Amino acid sequence: MITTAAQLTGPQQAVLVQPTETGSPGPGEVLVRMQACGICHSDVFVSSLPQLPLVPVTLGHEGIGVVVEAGPGVENVRAGDRVGITYFASSCGECEYCKSGRERLCPKQRNSGYSAHGALTNYAVVSAQQLIKVPLGLDAVKAAPLCCAGWTAYGALQNAALQEGQTVAIFGFGGLGNYALQFALRRKLRPIVSDVSEEKLESARALGATATFLAEDSGKRIAKEAGGAHAAIVFTGSGAAIEQAFRSLKRAGTLVLVGLGAGFALPVTEAIQKAIRIQASYLGTRQDLETVFRLASEDSIEIPTDVRRLEEVPATLQQLKAGKIQGRAVVTF
Ligand SMILES: [Zn+2]
Ligand SMILES: [Zn+2]
Repeated sequence: MITTAAQLTGPQQAVLVQPTETGSPGPGEVLVRMQACGICHSDVFVSSLPQLPLVPVTLGHEGIGVVVEAGPGVENVRAGDRVGITYFASSCGECEYCKSGRERLCPKQRNSGYSAHGALTNYAVVSAQQLIKVPLGLDAVKAAPLCCAGWTAYGALQNAALQEGQTVAIFGFGGLGNYALQFALRRKLRPIVSDVSEEKLESARALGATATFLAEDSGKRIAKEAGGAHAAIVFTGSGAAIEQAFRSLKRAGTLVLVGLGAGFALPVTEAIQKAIRIQASYLGTRQDLETVFRLASEDSIEIPTDVRRLEEVPATLQQLKAGKIQGRAVVTF
């Protein structure tokens, strides 16, 4: 079958929307008719890499679609099931991480839109192994960003290991920070938001943030004026934001790092005296993603989206790179 896909044509080469041949699903694979797929900063990141394991590669790891056909040996999903395609395409199933429910740490994992073909296509053939079922009633455009941004935000909150009533400081109020705020409120935490933009802080307050602070000296102010944070989650890649997050913490607080970036110089003595826990967070567990979809279908959890056509993917990636997209860009099919 000929389908149309947004493909990265080579390392640091153009992204083209082009016809491609899609075969029948092989053993362990399924054919999925896509409904929606979000475009993520990681797609821009992959486009900038000097080497790629698969060329050309169909991008997209925030996909929602319906299984049309299941290949031999597929047992976890069947035709008619609605599924989410994430960055995490498959794992070995045998290593210590796979066996302990931490498949995302598997050294032999394959990733959608990088080492496996992704979801920015009308029809995707993907491994069935890591697909997550998506409730039928959940709108595809709202569901798509949950596959990466929502999952990552939820996983970070899990890693923060907080109790009801405790304070979580969220650094960076883009899509992930927005999701984190909504999840935090549903867990009855006290979410505080820090960002460089007053406009974003305003939308955080409208959603129910307990307090908001402009980024510049937010760490000190959260510690002084808001009693300090039990956990601070950093969604931006900025070293300055990590530093502010460190400053905002109470004693025995947890610094959760999510945004990729250069880092900062850790004041080791102070970290030790305050018994600060530093926790890097990458995606979440399968169960986390199932919970995310359930929460979103029961109790509207959504971020602002900007709906696009598949043909607009190359231009959208450019706009994303230039920081010119408001809300999450989501392609519908
Ligand atoms: Zn992503
Ligand atoms: Zn493994």
